[in-house]
Amino acid sequence: MIQKNTQIAIIGAGPIGAVSALTLAQAGTPVVLIDKGGPLNKVVTDFDRRAYALSLSSIQYLKSLGIWDQVSQFAQPIEKIWVVEEGSKTPLTFDHAELGKDPLGAIVESQHLLRTLHNQLAETKNIEWLQHTSVQDVTQDELFATVTGEEVEVKASLVICADGRFSKLREKTQLKTRAWSYGQTAIVCPLIHEKPHNGWAFELFTPHGPFAILPMQDTSQGQHTSSLVWSVPPAYAEMLLSLDEKTFSQTLQDKFGEGLGHLQLNGKRWSYPLSGVLMEKFFEGRMVFAGDATCGIHPVAGQGLNLGLQGVGSLCQSLIGALDVGMDPGRPEILEQYHVQHRPRVLAMSGGTHGIVKIFESPLNYIRESAGLGLGVVQKIPPLKRLFMRVAMGLQGSRPSVMGQLPPR
Ligand SMILES: Cc1cc2nc3c(=O)[nH]c(=O)nc-3n(C[C@H](O)[C@H](O)[C@H](O)COP(=O)(O)OP(=O)(O)OC[C@H]3O[C@@H](n4cnc5c(N)ncnc54)[C@H](O)[C@@H]3O)c2cc1C
Repeated sequence: MIQKNTQIAIIGAGPIGAVSALTLAQAGTPVVLIDKGGPLNKVVTDFDRRAYALSLSSIQYLKSLGIWDQVSQFAQPIEKIWVVEEGSKTPLTFDHAELGKDPLGAIVESQHLLRTLHNQLAETKNIEWLQHTSVQDVTQDELFATVTGEEVEVKASLVICADGRFSKLREKTQLKTRAWSYGQTAIVCPLIHEKPHNGWAFELFTPHGPFAILPMQDTSQGQHTSSLVWSVPPAYAEMLLSLDEKTFSQTLQDKFGEGLGHLQLNGKRWSYPLSGVLMEKFFEGRMVFAGDATCGIHPVAGQGLNLGLQGVGSLCQSLIGALDVGMDPGRPEILEQYHVQHRPRVLAMSGGTHGIVKIFESPLNYIRESAGLGLGVVQKIPPLKRLFMRVAMGLQGSRPSVMGQLPPR
């Protein structure tokens, strides 16, 4: 039996758990990180193929952790975003030049971000990483929370639970959580296309669900590539997944048109049933939740991880402040600070993405048409457009200083 005592234990070495560990360890706080899996330490041809749209704010956070240089080798800057309702001729376009010289964000495949984070975890002192260790329970008394897994027991003043959208640890608390299904499955796969994307991301709203093509770096052979995220009802997804490659590619071509020239599927298709989750309160005693465990949203706006990183920034900022003055990091007033700072962002993003999905899939034509008109209206009101861009780039609202200083604009 491995037994450890630590001030902070973190469960989950996904992007949120890994970033929490790095932020705290770099500030001098020793942490024990526990994950049921092992490190991702090489490029895998068949990883989950999810592509993250990282906001400028998240990029700055990764810079301040010292890992953006490695991640950026695989990242494609987003220069423009083009959004339209299917059948409409009035798109809404966001151009980075309207706000400054920085791109709107960058697209990076999940495995490159995770691999870089895992390499950095292994190289950072103050981090003890218990791999292939599945946590089964967390119990609490006045002074400690005790994490137990097979042959492992870790006593900590605070346990950060970053165990993902289907968090089993959340179920062990009395904390109220809302969970729902979107009745949609996202099909995610890499594409190659004839014409360069020039850093454009495209999103088409259809009554079945959103269809997005996100720009990726050209391959080493100079092929132009993008990533598809197409959300559709489950039965339609089944049908699309069963099509042979050629027919699937033709279906995409028919849907998207000729903007990128000839489009072709370039690898396995992955599918993700889409669900939402929202915790009312983010902590109970000495257990605090972060990332998708607190709030899982629809990928329509590509903001799930960005939101989680803002939360981690707030949480770590409160913890570092408390530890600096010798306070117990499991004190409720410290965790309350995080909750109060992050909860409004979560409500706004969860509500906003939910609303977008529901409006564009409405069976009522007039509602969809009004939303389509709404895109055209935003296009014509520059201050409103800039506000949308600032939200997507993570520039709106308060920003914890651990996430690093944003460049002046
Ligand atoms: C199709 C799709 C597209 C997306 N696109 C975007 C996008 O463009 N931009 C964006 O910002 N977000 C996007 N997201 C959201 C993003 O994927 C999530 O927000 C992010 O992965 C959440 O990270 P996390 O660390 O909280 O959880 P996870 O990545 O789920 O990590 C949880 C970790 O906990 C570990 N774990 C779980 N249970 C235990 C246990 N009992 N014991 C030990 N370890 C445990 C797991 O092994 C895992 O390593 C997308 C999501 C989907 C489904």
